[in-house]
Amino acid sequence: MALHGGAIIDTAKDYSLEIEHMRELVEVARTRLDQGEAAASIAAAIVHEMEMSGLYVAGRGASPNDEGLYELDAALMDGTTARIGAVAALQNFKSPVEVARAVMESSPHVFFAGAGAAAFARRSGLEPVPDDNWYTHVGSGRSASGFGSRPFGTVGCVVLDRYGGLASATSTAGIFGKQAGRVGDSPVPGAGTWADRFCAVSCTGHGEFFIRTAAAVQVAHRLHYAGQGLNDAAVAVLREVEDLGGSGGLIAIDVAGRIAMPFISAGMKRAALFSDGSVSVNVR
Ligand code: ASP
Repeated sequence: MALHGGAIIDTAKDYSLEIEHMRELVEVARTRLDQGEAAASIAAAIVHEMEMSGLYVAGRGASPNDEGLYELDAALMDGTTARIGAVAALQNFKSPVEVARAVMESSPHVFFAGAGAAAFARRSGLEPVPDDNWYTHVGSGRSASGFGSRPFGTVGCVVLDRYGGLASATSTAGIFGKQAGRVGDSPVPGAGTWADRFCAVSCTGHGEFFIRTAAAVQVAHRLHYAGQGLNDAAVAVLREVEDLGGSGGLIAIDVAGRIAMPFISAGMKRAALFSDGSVSVNVR
């Protein structure tokens, strides 16, 4: 499995807390995998932990849009069943990925936005945010000229389970200073999140460019239809993002357990548990 805590722009920041946290989460995932839990359930659980930590720009660590509102996006996709649940511009719920999971598991629809997403979450009995003080707003205080120079903090997780099932989950508050109602790539099936029988992908970076390149599903299609290897496919997709002027990175895992974690930003908070049991955790 692999996880990410967002692409990095800020080269000076100390990420030791995030590194420690990501290392812990890899061990949580290892235990769940050993216990035979399915990929989608593990991906959602790991992203939920990242949301609750307040260390990333997702869930508790979210930052507000340009109107001061917290509008959060998330998606969960199960590659075995091709089921997906997504929410965009969700307000006032603690765990967007849990809402996405409820959409995937118990709705005839796949994607809810805005007030409809919140109404669905309410109907599903999911936990609301107590008040605006809930958010730790990890991005605050980092001045920058335009979102292009600010850090990203989306979180994501891709998992291959012991049955050969693949899944991907992604959650975010989006890019800093985004306009009200803006939706990035993270919840968009095939853009920021994708899983099928061949691979699972979760992206981070300038979402507009990942939508324009259908980044996540493009990795899968390069594997399946063009016969490319996972890393080559992932790097080629990021080259397209870069050619359009975007930056960021992605994590991907294929059905053979190969993992790719390329980025075209200054870094990407990321961790992986490889099929031989070894672990890597890096930010640059
Ligand atoms: N991709 C996310 C978005 O554009 C931002 C991020 O990766 O942090 O909403």
